[in-house]
Amino acid sequence: MARRDPQIVAALCRWFDREARDLPWRRRRTGYTALVAEAMLQQTQVSRVLQRYAAFVRRFPTAGALAAADEQEVLSLWQGLGYYRRARHLHGAAKLITRLYGGRVPRDVHELVNLPGVGRYTAAAIASIVYGKREPAVDGNTQRVLARLDANDGPPMDRRTIRRAWERAADLVGCAAEPGTLNEALMELGALVCTPQKPRCGRCPLASQCRALAQGRQDRIPPPRPAARKKQVHHHAVVIFRGGAPKVLLEQRPAHGMWSRLWQVPTVEAPRRLNIREVKDALPVPVTGLTLRGSFEHQTTHRWITFHVYTAGSRWRKGRWRRLDDTEDLPMSNAQRKVLAGSMRTSASPPIRRPPRPAAARGS
Ligand code: SF4
Repeated sequence: MARRDPQIVAALCRWFDREARDLPWRRRRTGYTALVAEAMLQQTQVSRVLQRYAAFVRRFPTAGALAAADEQEVLSLWQGLGYYRRARHLHGAAKLITRLYGGRVPRDVHELVNLPGVGRYTAAAIASIVYGKREPAVDGNTQRVLARLDANDGPPMDRRTIRRAWERAADLVGCAAEPGTLNEALMELGALVCTPQKPRCGRCPLASQCRALAQGRQDRIPPPRPAARKKQVHHHAVVIFRGGAPKVLLEQRPAHGMWSRLWQVPTVEAPRRLNIREVKDALPVPVTGLTLRGSFEHQTTHRWITFHVYTAGSRWRKGRWRRLDDTEDLPMSNAQRKVLAGSMRTSASPPIRRPPRPAAARGS
């Protein structure tokens, strides 16, 4: 433990008392609400989680209620948050909590990490913040703050860098009266003040303790991560209409892989752009008037996807047909929602605009 640690802890906790955001999962804190909030916050901005969290815990106020729910309803309430695997894991965790722990989220990190979707960080965050356990919890924000505090310029994905961050967090938690407050304060400082770009050192309670600031290297620590190369693929999404009050044909994606078991319009996926004949031949039903309406780019963790949006008509009756304005309750990816929204506009015909792709992604 460094000699300056007690000052760091005291300054951080005072700052957190003053500046902490009023977030709904901080108002009513239980193991279950913390589990839901942590699942939603992984890789998703707080502003977006705020739009979904209240409705989710209103519909599923306990682990037991979530465990008893149908997966399609859980996914439907997850819409807009993306990364649906987290929703499935949360659903699985609720079932396990109900079966093994009588509906109460366990307090021990070793039990918590056995729940689906719960890693070392989430387990430690719940154990410390909700149950007051003396456990360090290091997320991306905390790791950045700690790296700057000690001017540790190791690559953020390097195992030694990560181990060092956990050790430093354990040091700080070791001298905190309230371990959960300390953990939350570190995360909050990383989210609001010690941001990835342009940290606001002038407003930082740790400025006098910060070695990166003393060395003028706060903008260069941590070093940037190498950009991941993404695969380029093409999704040819066809909004097939039937009847006068138009119904559209929908299909469910396979149980495995990206967007598993979500709904979509018939979509032909290919490593290259297909011509209109190839799209038509690959569709599950015979169609007429197949017309390209426009394209847009969509980015996932591992892929650049160009969506080519078509409309067509069909007299086919088999399959899942829904009124276009009655698809809200079906879990769908944001990209497929955009396809449907575009097709509503294109029934009056303006093309969907194609935004420019960021330069970094070109050629990948
Ligand atoms: S002084 Fe600046 S770089 Fe150091 S912890 Fe505070 S915000 Fe981050």
